[in-house]
Amino acid sequence: MSHEVMEQAKPLSWRPVTQSSALSAVPSGARDAVLKFYFGPMDCGKSTLALQMNYNHGRQGRRGLVLTKHDRSGGPKITSRIGLGLEAIEVVDSLDLVRLVTAHDRIDYLICDEACFYTVEQIEQLADLVDEHGIDVYAFGLASDFRSVMFPAAQRLFELADEVCRLQVEVLCWCGRPGLLNARVVGGTLARTGEQVVIGDTDASAVRYQVLCRRHHRSGHLGEGTSQAV
Ligand SMILES: [Zn+2]
Repeated sequence: MSHEVMEQAKPLSWRPVTQSSALSAVPSGARDAVLKFYFGPMDCGKSTLALQMNYNHGRQGRRGLVLTKHDRSGGPKITSRIGLGLEAIEVVDSLDLVRLVTAHDRIDYLICDEACFYTVEQIEQLADLVDEHGIDVYAFGLASDFRSVMFPAAQRLFELADEVCRLQVEVLCWCGRPGLLNARVVGGTLARTGEQVVIGDTDASAVRYQVLCRRHHRSGHLGEGTSQAV
């Protein structure tokens, strides 16, 4: 596409603001909306940060929606392991996120927890919301599954996001190295095959997840005394 065509395709609101200096107030609408993806293994504080970010934006008088999928509470709610919680909209596969947001009066931002479990189409919808509706989207999730293979939605976020940020809030492997990858543990052994999404760490489940460093994820060594809670 030529530069000329690109210029013609730009809607009015994208025109650069000319009367601006370092000291003038930033006119509303002058800043492009952003798509940001925060990723890390479980327990790295993703949901806690999602809740904190929602609180901060809300205090500034901005209006947002909070979305999640397969949260550990089992309901449409974001819960963090340190005990915070918030009602959220459950993102089922058939949910059109553009329609969801445009059905509301005015939305300034979206908090998308567990975005790794959304469909790829829904990630495209998030990018549309940023580019065509000027809505800031803050997505949180795992990058890779229990095999250390990237989730399709996470991959699309890596490809499309304005900013990608790895969260590393002191999650350590049993050996003391930084915990980078989630392992799925079934019956005390690290699983290498199976469905990409299996909810574990619930009372009824024989599946649990453990954060490991890359070395021990690849070797399958779960450490001493870590194969208890099933
Ligand atoms: Zn390790």
